[in-house]
Amino acid sequence: MSWLTNFVRPKLRALGIKPDVPDNLWIKCPDCEQMLFHRELAANLHVCHYCDHHLRLPAADRLAMLFDDGTFQTIELPETIADPLRFRDRRRYSERLRDARHGDDRRDAVLVGHGTMGGHPAVVAAFDFGFMGGSMGVAAGEGLLAAANLAVLQDSPLIVVPASGGARMQEGILSLMQLPRTVIGVQQVREAGLPYIVVLADPTTGGVTASFAMLGDIALAEPGAIVGFAGTRVIQETIREKLPTGFQRAEYLHEHGMVDMVVHRRALRDRLISLIGLLRHPRPKAEFVPLERRGEAADETSDKAPQDKADARAAPAADPKGSPAKGA
Ligand SMILES: [Zn+2]
Repeated sequence: MSWLTNFVRPKLRALGIKPDVPDNLWIKCPDCEQMLFHRELAANLHVCHYCDHHLRLPAADRLAMLFDDGTFQTIELPETIADPLRFRDRRRYSERLRDARHGDDRRDAVLVGHGTMGGHPAVVAAFDFGFMGGSMGVAAGEGLLAAANLAVLQDSPLIVVPASGGARMQEGILSLMQLPRTVIGVQQVREAGLPYIVVLADPTTGGVTASFAMLGDIALAEPGAIVGFAGTRVIQETIREKLPTGFQRAEYLHEHGMVDMVVHRRALRDRLISLIGLLRHPRPKAEFVPLERRGEAADETSDKAPQDKADARAAPAADPKGSPAKGA
């Protein structure tokens, strides 16, 4: 391999021949260790077709998966100070950020998009675990606030898909300040009477679980997703006790009432659409018209029916967004 990479590839490059083969054609399933072809994997929504393991999903793929026909508009997130503390561990934080952004138009770990889901307008904010472990710094906090504001502005539900290792330690206290800020964002959505749905993806840990991720009106989780505050090993060492199998997994949390439902990625979009439908239109759009029994009050029916039908037609037209009777 070293001969190929060290000798042949530079020679090809020098000749101006680009080897047009991407580096990651085959991806190893982290669970069953089968090799998965990247195209097949993408077609299967990044779910292993051997063991059904849900692999981590880039934020853009997540948005494409949820919106109608995979079309959505992303919003530009507010500019933030890149390295407020001039933090340095083994490397400078600014260098790490530059590397994470390299060759990509993503600015930080959160991507916010809006579009329609099953015809309902919706705003989705998705985390990218591939961007510095999906950690939440000032930029991610701004992203969530922008998503909340947009949802209120557009009178649409907010769906957040966290996939994060927690607060971004390189931003110190500023990253911890994003916890209350995101909670305020959630509160704004709630005060506007709009649904806030969370889809807990693998992994949802640390500061994210301690703030907006656990505040959903409805909490969904993907199968096998790790959801928790501190890691299993840390808890085990602290309490010096063996933890039960499946601890901090989505199914375990569901059994213990922390998550409302565990939904397979293939069914996720449809489930979200039906939830939005139920939450936004709790009552039918038109009034119920009781059917008259046969032979009973024939005159009355003929008088009433056209009127009722007209009402039924008029009701959705008067309220084109179909928002639930606000202020009624
Ligand atoms: Zn697998």
